[in-house]
Amino acid sequence: MAFTLPQLEYAPAAFPAFISEKTFSFHHGKHLQTYIDTTNKLVAGSDYEGKSLEEIVMTASGPLFNNAAQAWNHEFYFKCISPEKKEIPAALKALIEQNFNSVEEFKEKFIASAVGNFGSGWTWLMQTGPNKLKIMNTSNAGNPMVDGFTPLLTVDVWEHAYYLDFQNRRADYLKAFMEYVNWDFVAANLK
Ligand code: MN
Repeated sequence: MAFTLPQLEYAPAAFPAFISEKTFSFHHGKHLQTYIDTTNKLVAGSDYEGKSLEEIVMTASGPLFNNAAQAWNHEFYFKCISPEKKEIPAALKALIEQNFNSVEEFKEKFIASAVGNFGSGWTWLMQTGPNKLKIMNTSNAGNPMVDGFTPLLTVDVWEHAYYLDFQNRRADYLKAFMEYVNWDFVAANLK
């Protein structure tokens, strides 16, 4: 079965103070669609036919890895945000405080890491062990699953994710992103 574009759980115009409908429409409807279409083309007739996107990300290399991981990362990213402002569930909040001293300190470190992620890539909060959280940058299509870590939260720092709305002001995009994190989704990713 070919991979298809996942539906968004909110309207593309749901984030007027963060991401414009125009950015959303291109990001979800064009960029993500292209990664999915290319993945389908590369999988057709190969040993990867019938495998899940996650299995492909974990084992493929080259263009198939790049496109499949970009598809996975985007699907995950779009689930990491919510137009309703969410509180951090208590268990996740305690874990963040245990690993980063405070939620504020975590946010500062996450934003600093994402600002410093040179070029195109993703910044992740991931779980590296029981009660262990870490922030990591990946370049291009990189994904922490490949290194055996559990992704909890990601932000897309490719320019296409924010350039129409924020131009070169990546830090402002990241500060706005932090206001719309779907903490319920992040907490649900804990192992
Ligand atoms: Mn993107």
